[in-house]
Amino acid sequence: MTSGPRLVLLGKQGSGKGTQAARLAEHYGGEHLSTGAILRAAVEAGTPLGLETRRYMDAGELVPDDVVVRVVEERLSDRGLRARGFVLDGFPRTEPQALELERILVDHPLDVVVTLRVPMEMVLERIHRRAVEEGRTDDTAEAVARRLELFELETRPLLELYDRLGRLVEVDGVGEPDDVFKRLVGVVDERLA
Ligand code: AMP
Repeated sequence: MTSGPRLVLLGKQGSGKGTQAARLAEHYGGEHLSTGAILRAAVEAGTPLGLETRRYMDAGELVPDDVVVRVVEERLSDRGLRARGFVLDGFPRTEPQALELERILVDHPLDVVVTLRVPMEMVLERIHRRAVEEGRTDDTAEAVARRLELFELETRPLLELYDRLGRLVEVDGVGEPDDVFKRLVGVVDERLA
């Protein structure tokens, strides 16, 4: 079996990361792993995981590292999934999560970590539009502000970490989704070559 790329897509809320992660997973034949989507599904289904995480999500706070790491480790322990490749979306978000991910992947390290660069005013406009169109209940103004703040505090340092490891690529996230997607595939293919 040929193995697909193992990717991480890092970006602020509203950067278009979720849409692009789904498209990349489809393009490369791997799994789209969105921790936000997994957690939202758990909340909707009222599972113990959902009951445990709901209050963090509604407030825009980060779910504790050990809880999210457990969720990701469970998915990534599937050897078939690891072999097909994956696109992680919304994970890792903190340095401890990034270190745990390195541990989980040991013999199948990440190929590329891509970060989408999008200016703040564009991010805010997209989040507002999505809140209206999709009616996401965790997109209150306070939760959005807190999520963006936590991106700067907790997730931004990961860019430096992955840059040091030589895995980081920055992509301009401004423009039509099709154009952004082409840029993403371009840099990923270049890295894989
Ligand atoms: P997202 O859909 O990625 O914006 O995630 C929605 C919410 O789920 C976040 O505001 C957090 O409460 C929670 N969440 C998702 N991924 C993580 C993560 N890697 N670490 C901590 N909390 C997370």
